[in-house]
Amino acid sequence: MKRMTCVVAMVALSAAGFLRAEERPKGPAEDGTMPALVKIAGEGELNSHAFQFLTELSDDIGSRVTGSPAERKAEEWGMAKMRAMGLENVHTEKYTIWKGWTRGTAEAELLMPTRHKLHVDAMGWTGSTPAGGVEGDIVAVNLFDMDNEIKNVSRLKGKIVMMTIKGKPTKSFISLFAQFGDFLKAASSAGAIAVIGGQGGGKSAGMNLTHTGILGFDADFAVPVVSMTAEDQSQLERYLERGLTLRARFNVQNTLTNGPVETANVVGEIRGREHPEEILVVGGHLDSWDLAQGTTDNGSGTATTLGAADTIKRIGDRPRRTIRFVLFTGEEQGLDGSLAYVKQHDSELPNHLGDLILDAGQGAVKGFQMGGRDDLIPAFEAFTKSLSNIRALSVDDKIESGTDTLPFSIHGLPGINMLQDTSDYGFTHHSAADALNAQKPDVLAMNSTLMAMAAYWIADRPERLASPWPTERTAKMLRDQNEYEELKAFNLWPYGDLGADKKE
Ligand SMILES: [Zn+2]
Repeated sequence: MKRMTCVVAMVALSAAGFLRAEERPKGPAEDGTMPALVKIAGEGELNSHAFQFLTELSDDIGSRVTGSPAERKAEEWGMAKMRAMGLENVHTEKYTIWKGWTRGTAEAELLMPTRHKLHVDAMGWTGSTPAGGVEGDIVAVNLFDMDNEIKNVSRLKGKIVMMTIKGKPTKSFISLFAQFGDFLKAASSAGAIAVIGGQGGGKSAGMNLTHTGILGFDADFAVPVVSMTAEDQSQLERYLERGLTLRARFNVQNTLTNGPVETANVVGEIRGREHPEEILVVGGHLDSWDLAQGTTDNGSGTATTLGAADTIKRIGDRPRRTIRFVLFTGEEQGLDGSLAYVKQHDSELPNHLGDLILDAGQGAVKGFQMGGRDDLIPAFEAFTKSLSNIRALSVDDKIESGTDTLPFSIHGLPGINMLQDTSDYGFTHHSAADALNAQKPDVLAMNSTLMAMAAYWIADRPERLASPWPTERTAKMLRDQNEYEELKAFNLWPYGDLGADKKE
């Protein structure tokens, strides 16, 4: 910043709001979209069906792991809801994920130095102990020293491994996470019994909660990996620090399929009245984890999306461009549904305007993140200013790489993330507390109304909001936003050397 020249400073100032009137992006009051947004606000707040959708999904279907019978049932349910509200072109788009997985049981008992049950649950797409379980000593492995731990992996034969964090990390979090996968493979080959590593050495959030989840993009491991409650794991760490010998029995049973399993994204549209070929994707993910009802991750996003579609249908106005509502599956295994979508719709991507996603739990929407597209901030701020009677909403250009926004950002389109208050989400995220109790109906209705207004405004404003950036500009932006390392580590970087600083 200290090297910023006057020219750069002036460019920044003009972008920040000193544009001449004719250059300033128009908000809803000036661009003709206000009457429809007023109707959406009224319908969305006074006649919302979002919580009803969430109740059905949570109570009547419940957990829905990608590729499972319950997830298929959720696809049918999603299509039925879309048809009932009158969306057009309702269908599923099938694809396969590399493997399927079913949770069995996870039991653990500490035998020494004291004897009691340990509260554990298996991480997704991890394996089993021998039937009936097996006994072993618990030994600590340092997540921050993976290079040496992988070298010394033979010491883990017949042991129960507990991930810990000691010292300072020598690598970024993403590199460590990728290397943790390498470690799990090595530990598995070396004959480790199980790994306590749900949080990669960190502690589970919440009182007596475990948090399941995947350990990479499309990653499965033969060794059982478990999440343990913070209370139990802390006790084990205290024992180890005192130099005591820890012995436990672990019995973890899961089933991985031998080959790929089929799943599908659920799609329905409100076709545009002027440019039906131009498409804004709006959605959340339909799949969930399986320790509870999958309400906040991401039943809330599903209900927000269906509620928004229903609200827009009921005002009776048709936007200029098509809004395509997509309930993605496979999100929890590595954004598989949205990655399949951009692949299946590759030839149509130049006609896309981006996607708009809600997937950060049960909290109130606080702002919009433009997924790498800093050029869209002034226009989007003109929209959020018109919502100032609801609340102040932030707008920035950050990429959210942990949900179905990322595949759109990779293609130079705005993968727009609805930023939320996440103060309670840390507890419900992938845990046994992810049930309907966690969602306040008024917050959901307002989130759904905000999604409907944003979607309608983007699709209906006279000027098209966005087209894909050229690959070189996209590659540079992804590197500037520190996405290169993660995408490269998980084999998702498509641009070779493009966008790299010449000096490097
Ligand atoms: Zn999610």
